Amino acid sequence: MSSQLKDFSLARLRDDFALRGIARYRADQVAGWLYQHGVEDPMAMTNLDLPLRERLASEWQSRALDVDRVQESSDGTRKLVLRTHDGAVLEAVLIPEERRNTLCISTQVGCPLACSFCATGALGFTRNLTTAEIVDQVCRAREVIDAAPALAGEEERLSNIVFMGMGEPLLNLPNVLESIRILTDPKAFGMAPRRITVSTAGVVPKIRPLLEVGPINLAVSLHAVRDEVRDVLVPINQKFPLQVLLDTLRNEELISRRRPVFFEYTLMKGVNDSLEDARLLPELLRGIPSKLNVIPMNPHPDAPYEAPDRDVIDRFTAALHEGGLRVTLRRNRGADIDAACGQLAAREVRSERAKGS
Ligand code: SF4
Repeated sequence: MSSQLKDFSLARLRDDFALRGIARYRADQVAGWLYQHGVEDPMAMTNLDLPLRERLASEWQSRALDVDRVQESSDGTRKLVLRTHDGAVLEAVLIPEERRNTLCISTQVGCPLACSFCATGALGFTRNLTTAEIVDQVCRAREVIDAAPALAGEEERLSNIVFMGMGEPLLNLPNVLESIRILTDPKAFGMAPRRITVSTAGVVPKIRPLLEVGPINLAVSLHAVRDEVRDVLVPINQKFPLQVLLDTLRNEELISRRRPVFFEYTLMKGVNDSLEDARLLPELLRGIPSKLNVIPMNPHPDAPYEAPDRDVIDRFTAALHEGGLRVTLRRNRGADIDAACGQLAAREVRSERAKGS
């Protein structure tokens, strides 16, 4: 079977080329075409000699994902429904914000963690994405940006990447790390590590190995202040309860005020939105340099949760401010096209399964 060029960080691609008798610097040239120029056809890599171009075309693949369709929300958010070579469907979400474009990417097809509020979790788990399939979400998104004058005109075409789509990134750590190396290599995508955020539901033993890849941001899906509630919302809490998770973060020397943890708290009516919860949160996070994102639940048919009323949301966030937390209340982007947490792909995957049955 042919190898996939985008499965390799530049350092590993140089080694692999050397083993095959190809000069190491050729790997740098190939990476330039793939990631800086968006050229995937080896025959179009004009600074390579013809025998090498032909060899690359026969021995390697250079594209891992195709775009099934792109759906645009009324707020400008775009969902890319993507398909792997073996027919798996996944999604990436492109979110234009003031003077920047953020891309939310997936790391697994489905997810084994089965968080009770999440449409992806309701799908079950199919497989990990390869490094090339992670990286290609960025390549496909850049093509969408280039084709949309309103997006391409932004100051930076693609300014931020968040690993918050389908799947738990830390359960696919080797491929996530390799994709981060490609995203941050100056000879590949050349993104600043601080523009990249990786989210986890709390796979505690993998947090340190993730942080060691470079000064990327860590986001943690918190969603509850009590184990009995979080055990239901985020079942991995049964294995790594709140105290274990938060003590790990508190004692982690790679976390600092310059590199805080971004806690995500999805606010659900009657579940985790009480004033008592809001008062407990600052206590719980004490000693962890952190920022807290509060996101009102985006309701969907796979979960029995809804967003609190506006006045409850306001009282909750006011109490967090009083407790001294750095808090942002996030709008739900793309709610009209099911952008949140794998919902679009959940619908696509279901319709694919229905066709197959
Ligand atoms: S919230 Fe994240 S970790 Fe939990 S089931 Fe959904 S995709 Fe998986």
